Amino acid sequence: MTQIQTLSENLSNQIAAGEVIERPASVVKELVENAIDAQAQHIDVLVEEAGIKSIRVIDDGVGIPSAEVLKAFERHATSKITSRHDLFRIQSLGFRGEALPSIASVSDVVLQTAQSGAHEGRHVHIKGGEVLEERGATARVGTDITVEDLFYNTPARLKYLKSQATELSKIVDVMNRLALSHPNVGFRLVHHQKEILKTAGNGQLQQVVAAVYGVQQARKMLTFNAEDSDFKLNGLTSLPELTRANRSYISIMINGRYIKNYQLSNAVVKGYGSKLMVGRFPISVLEIEMDPLLIDVNVHPQKHEVRLSKEAELVDLIEKTIYDRISKENLIPNAYQNY
Ligand code: ADP
Ligand code: MG
Repeated sequence: MTQIQTLSENLSNQIAAGEVIERPASVVKELVENAIDAQAQHIDVLVEEAGIKSIRVIDDGVGIPSAEVLKAFERHATSKITSRHDLFRIQSLGFRGEALPSIASVSDVVLQTAQSGAHEGRHVHIKGGEVLEERGATARVGTDITVEDLFYNTPARLKYLKSQATELSKIVDVMNRLALSHPNVGFRLVHHQKEILKTAGNGQLQQVVAAVYGVQQARKMLTFNAEDSDFKLNGLTSLPELTRANRSYISIMINGRYIKNYQLSNAVVKGYGSKLMVGRFPISVLEIEMDPLLIDVNVHPQKHEVRLSKEAELVDLIEKTIYDRISKENLIPNAYQNY
């Protein structure tokens, strides 16, 4: 046994990276969420070798003030919350201040950023948590970040990655869900110069669904919305004839954040009653708006799991809304022809 010592910042970042950054898709998620939080209208994601070689995210958001660029890479440094009060009213996707330091501790990162009105931008190069270069740069408004050689210094992580096809499919999945939860933002995903996803960012959820699942599928989906004193729902759900063999085509977003919650996705399925064959599940996109006070997102570092007050009420509302919409459709065949 040696003495008790505090870990160096770099080592503790690498340990934190183990929780937040599992694979290339986690890098994509964190960087794109930062771009969304920065109010970007367009976000381009350019990937090489399923993100293992390189992930570049270019946004037209508000940028980082030149004087704060290095600070953004410090652990627990965030511009998104300042007090305990804010923690209970999270409006942004990020708030833990962990992604950039975690990513930079296990890869080779170049970030260039500028804010509107600044006469100069800032360029930083950080590898394995060490700052290699920091200097002025052109003043293109927004942020352009490239992450190369992910896990170059953590061989166990690198070994744990699956085939490039699998890692790429996880990136596509993350991008699809981010696009579905933000119809107002235009997304582009490009792998080795090939465009995999492109959305217009014009706010039309149907168009995003068509981009993600295909135009034929989107034509077989019904729009719905509902509201009570606590929740506002809207989305699209497939006709009972259009189904999939598992639940992963049910996407649930709360206040713009994609979440996993069995009770809520099960409520969608239950809304179909006996209209679905056993073992078949709909394609659905369900957007829920609620008071941030009713939701605790600070449960898990990746923030996929949340705790909900009034979950039972929400489950009932979802089930009833889907049930009503599907029943109505059966009364009026082809009511969806105008899409
Ligand atoms: P968090 O998102 O939890 O705040 P991050 O480590 O992901 O933590 O980012 C740290 C900070 O860097 C953010 O709070 C934000 O101020 C800034 N930042 C990161 N990415 C961007 C971006 N694309 N545009 C503008 N600011 C950014
Ligand atoms: Mg973040």
